[in-house]
This record gives sequence, structure tokens and C-alpha cells, in this order.
Amino acid sequence: MMRIDLHTHSRASDGTDTPEALVKRAKAAALDVVALTDHDTFDGLAAAHAAAIRVGIGLLPGVEISAQLDGVSVHLLGYGCDTANLRLGGELRKIRTGRERRMPTMLAKLEELGMPVTLADVHAQSGGSPSVGRPHVADALVAKGYIASREEAFAGFLDDGGAAFVPRYSVEVVRGIRLIHGAGGVAVIAHPWGRVSRAVLTPDVLARLRNDHGLDGLEVDHGDHDQADRAQLRALAKQLGLLVTGGSDYHGDGKTGHDLGSETTAPGIWAKIADRSG
Ligand code: AMP
Ligand code: FE
Ligand code: FE
Ligand code: ZN
Repeated sequence: MMRIDLHTHSRASDGTDTPEALVKRAKAAALDVVALTDHDTFDGLAAAHAAAIRVGIGLLPGVEISAQLDGVSVHLLGYGCDTANLRLGGELRKIRTGRERRMPTMLAKLEELGMPVTLADVHAQSGGSPSVGRPHVADALVAKGYIASREEAFAGFLDDGGAAFVPRYSVEVVRGIRLIHGAGGVAVIAHPWGRVSRAVLTPDVLARLRNDHGLDGLEVDHGDHDQADRAQLRALAKQLGLLVTGGSDYHGDGKTGHDLGSETTAPGIWAKIADRSG
């Protein structure tokens, strides 16, 4: 049976492995196919693709787009998108700019909380990533010795609504689906019933996204979902004709409990995604 993990992050966004290291580790984790789905950027894909050819593993090119519904954060996975598509590329750039723009406000809040870090400190942690995020801020706080881990930052003050949280621009989910399709990709909602998006992604809303906007799939098998969530989402996906995917949401050392290959996608589903995209 092929082992397929369709949700991972590299240093091109907030993962801690280079794309090359991630692909090697995917091979070591006995995966046959891995999708690189960095937040709001295609930057890691070329290096991941080259590494995948070298080590002999399948790479599905992906992206995890920061979207929203009624102001609530929803993550959209796009598979097999044309990375040269101008509309999608332009939107991703706009989201990344929003990521940069929120930083000074977030750093001001951290200073008020007695944990000053500079933008340079954050960029030292994000390295060459074009997609700077809260995990990099957390890494800067760890480097300063204020806290011990990313987990501690999110549990304490960086989580949505936390004392140092600052919202940022994200694309309306319907528009995100349209942009993915316009770039020849397949659109799957990441961890739909994870902590943040579960409030807005009711069965009715998911049905509307499927029937009126052509949503392709739901990431059912994800660590944020318990067995009851998975059973309900699987039944809903079947009823609506949505693809059921699974992925670890691996972030290297940046997120515990999300080991490569800990959640997987059925080979038949992967084949459909690969066929439909590109
Ligand atoms: P941002 O994209 O800057 O809004 O930050 C959100 C990112 O933080 C998500 O992509 C998650 O990967 C990451 N994140 C959320 N909660 C945690 C956590 N408890 N530990 C590590 N990373 C987290
Ligand atoms: Fe992340
Ligand atoms: Fe996500
Ligand atoms: Zn993710």
C-alpha cells in the first residue's frame, strides 16, 4: 500500500526543515508521495522537486492559502496549481505583504508584555522565508530566552485572540477556491474542524462551497480532528461528493505531534488529485 502525506511545511514558510531535508525525511519515513504545502508561497517547490527526483519519491506540488470566512481563519490547500499563474501569484504576494505588515504591531504588543524582540530578530529566525508568521516570532522569543518553545507562545499569547495576536489580510475562501481552479489546481479545505475554522464551516456551509463554488475536497485525516469529527466529516464528504484527504501538517521541529506520515491519503484519492490538476 502506498503511503501518501499531503500536508507538510518547510523553511519556505514556518517549517524548520529545508525542502531538501523534508523530502529526505519523507523517504526515511517510508512515504511514497509527499505534498509540500507551505503557507502562501511556492518558494520551496523547485528545491523539493529536485530532491524528490534524487531520492526517488513522488512530490505533489501544493500550497496552503490563508483564507477566511466571515472574518474567521480558514486554510485552503491548493494542489497542482500552475506556479506561474499571475492571479494566484498576485494574491499570494498580497497575503505575504499582509504578513509583513502586521509584524510591527505584534512586536509592540510583545514589548508591552515585557518580551521585546526586533523585526531583525524575527527575520533572523525566518531566514529566507518570504512568508513570515507567528511561529517565527515565537522562535525569536525562544532565542531571547523568554519562553522555551513555539507551543508555549501559542498557549500563552500568540494564539488567535491572544494578548499579542494581530490579525492580517487573508483571501475570502470562495475567491481562494476560484483562484486555485483558475491556476488548474485542486482545492481542499485543510483541517476544516480544527480549533479556529470549525465555528464557521458548518455542514450547510461546506455543502454550499461544494455545490455553488466547486470545492474539491476536505482534509478529514488531520491531528486536529478526533475520531468523531473524522466520522462525521467522512460521511459529509461522501454525501457531497468531496475527496477525502489526510496529511500530517508536519512543521519539522516546529510543531509536536505532527510527524511525517502520521496522517495519510488513500492512493486512489491521490491519483484523482494528480489527474485533475496541472
Ligand atoms: P500565522 O500564519 O502567522 O497566522 O501563524 C499561524 C501558524 O502558526 C499556523 O500555520 C500553525 O502552523 C502555527 N501554529 C499554530 N499553533 C501552533 C502551536 N501550538 N505550535 C506551533 N505552531 C503553531
Ligand atoms: Fe504553519
Ligand atoms: Fe493550516
Ligand atoms: Zn499546515
